[in-house]
Amino acid sequence: MKRLVPLSNTPSYVERYLRIRDSKSADVRVELESIHRPIVRQYDSYALQAASRNLEVVRRSQRCATSANALRHCYDSPTNALRALKKEIKELQPRRQLKYCPMCGVTLPKTFDHYMPAARFPEYAVMALNLIPCCSQCNSIKDDDWLSTSGERQFLHLYFDCIPEEQYLFVQLLSSADMRGVGASFELRRPSGFRRNKWSLLTSHYKRLKLLERFSEEGNEEIAEVLAGCKAHLQAGGGSASLLLQNLANDRATVYGDSHWRTVLMRALSTYSRLDQLIPLI
Ligand SMILES: [Zn+2]
Repeated sequence: MKRLVPLSNTPSYVERYLRIRDSKSADVRVELESIHRPIVRQYDSYALQAASRNLEVVRRSQRCATSANALRHCYDSPTNALRALKKEIKELQPRRQLKYCPMCGVTLPKTFDHYMPAARFPEYAVMALNLIPCCSQCNSIKDDDWLSTSGERQFLHLYFDCIPEEQYLFVQLLSSADMRGVGASFELRRPSGFRRNKWSLLTSHYKRLKLLERFSEEGNEEIAEVLAGCKAHLQAGGGSASLLLQNLANDRATVYGDSHWRTVLMRALSTYSRLDQLIPLI
């Protein structure tokens, strides 16, 4: 897992919002013009608190809440201006970064999550920093849930929160006695020096999105695909399958991070003692 690159404030986040607001019908536009000042205050507050990883302190705006429908209409009824914003967010990310959902790393990110839920914070419905590319499964699991009952954030904000550079996701491979299948069991381990409060947020993210379970579910198919690639490599006269996997793992680590589950799985397979016995069985 790696952080995403946030859009810069040039042009400002408010200007980007205005492009969307001004592409709406006159009745929506007029209503939103009447709450412009509270919207600007809320935008400023978001940018400030997000940068210091303190979004939980941002309070709802009662004034904005009175125009919730008009604000949410900006997202729910997309215009070219909103499509352009989404495109800009995606195109800013490093190449291949969005091949997998940034929140889980499992599937394509075909939707956008509102980090601060639009149901409670309609003013952030099209705020650039509040829109996180993600897959539909993560989006539906997270839904409007973002704070615990004690007011702590439960999910990583992929533009701002800290993610350890050191490996923190590990896997144990277990092959069945007849060697017909390999299971994968994932676990999280806090890197020394990574602060406990940041670790608590990261583990909450994994727990709430059921990521370890999802990785294990996907693990068998992923292993079969990797081994099939090794077999084709050997049949074509390629050298060591272990070396191939190490190189592929290094490539995935560069793009997706050392703790992306596919990186971790590939690296574990590259040093797996029964690798040479497994490949012919594919
Ligand atoms: Zn996802």
